Amino acid sequence: MDFLHNQLAIVQGRLSFVTTDHIDWKLYVQAFSWAVTLFESYLLLRQYPLYSKTEPPAALKKDFEPGAFEKSQAYGKDKAKFAFVSGLYKQTLDSLLLHFGFYAWAWTAASSLVGKFGYGADYQIPQSIAFVFVLFFGSTIPTLPLSVYSTFVLEEKHGFNKTTPALFVGDLVKSWGVAFFLGAPFLAVFLKIFQWAGDRFVPWLMAFMISFQLIMVVLYPTVIQPLFNKLSPLADGDLRSRIEALASKLKFPLTHLYEIDGSKRSSHSNAYFFGLPWSKHIVIFDTLIQQSQPEEVEAVLAHELGHWFFMHPTQMLLVSQLHIFTILALFPAFLHAPPVLLSFDFAPSIAKNPPTIVAFLLFQMILTPVEAVVSIGMNAISRKFEFEADRFAVELEGRVRENLGAEKAEGMGDMGERLGRALVSLHVKNLSTVWVDWLYSAYHHSHPTLTERLKGLEYYQAAKSKKE
Ligand SMILES: [Zn+2]
Repeated sequence: MDFLHNQLAIVQGRLSFVTTDHIDWKLYVQAFSWAVTLFESYLLLRQYPLYSKTEPPAALKKDFEPGAFEKSQAYGKDKAKFAFVSGLYKQTLDSLLLHFGFYAWAWTAASSLVGKFGYGADYQIPQSIAFVFVLFFGSTIPTLPLSVYSTFVLEEKHGFNKTTPALFVGDLVKSWGVAFFLGAPFLAVFLKIFQWAGDRFVPWLMAFMISFQLIMVVLYPTVIQPLFNKLSPLADGDLRSRIEALASKLKFPLTHLYEIDGSKRSSHSNAYFFGLPWSKHIVIFDTLIQQSQPEEVEAVLAHELGHWFFMHPTQMLLVSQLHIFTILALFPAFLHAPPVLLSFDFAPSIAKNPPTIVAFLLFQMILTPVEAVVSIGMNAISRKFEFEADRFAVELEGRVRENLGAEKAEGMGDMGERLGRALVSLHVKNLSTVWVDWLYSAYHHSHPTLTERLKGLEYYQAAKSKKE
């Protein structure tokens, strides 16, 4: 532990200028965040002309029914326009909030809010919770019209929206409720750790965050998701027996197999698994079941189980822990830095002894450009995982034959083709874009494009046939 703290002290020493120098951090944040937004707008401008193409890529031509490609292009165009406008709107809003010292105002507002309940300035934790909620509503309410428009105009126009206004409001209220009942205790413990451990908070906070994530793995599907969706056991039949057979061949610890009523809100479709290492649950969207053949859904699940087999979620978790660790390791330098607060319009009386939550929030804003780079890196890892899982599905037959004998592997030879068919039909039904600019995709997409994945599948299949 001392070794860790010595290393952290070196980092903090390097960053000591933050505590002493008067740097115009606000100007930096404004400049950086505008740079990120303008870059994202530039990407949209690169992508936009592709929506005017009149034909799908040659490899996909046969998969589009007449009119389907035009529909997907029109949907893409509308979504791009919306992304362009809403990106600039959100950034303008954030920029104005920053310019007019909204964060400093929110801290004062939180102080008078908790004051009404009899908590004075010594109660930093209640005031911090109030502060976060003032910020949350201050930044959420102005963007509400965007989600209303996206759901009831954009998605509606292209036939995806199944949400009613009552459902929309209900979801909103519920998600705010969940945010409050989870967020407030989380924040309280988070801040308590700082009070208790002082500047040696890094390992304790890491331990807390990991435990919180593990608790969420259990809590999310059992308590939170049922607030929004209904999960019901998948009905007996061809699909169920296929998936159960697949899981048992791979020794996947399948406990529950659910169908989720995704169609209640949208006709976009998906499948995923979750759970603790010894007990896993698979969830399939009813829309996926309606849109695809059982043997295609099975191939989608073969891909998903590939993620499990290669421990992709665990690896992602480790990468994200490393990310959190880096952030926390840099934070102490910003924790006692009055100049940072002063540059964001906080009163000198507050800046001289920075509240932890304020320092953390400002630190996060200063990190924005770094986070943009990190997210590109995360996307790159996730794309690699997608290819690996696709390859897993293609090679599944060989793997099963090797471990369980030829009989068990029967009928699995075309898993790759089935997966390809499923991907194409999902893309076509979801009107997903088939023409994608590479830079746009690298920045935004955690999945390779459809054409890339089909090319990959073809390559793995050729390699497999060669081996046989
Ligand atoms: Zn995947």
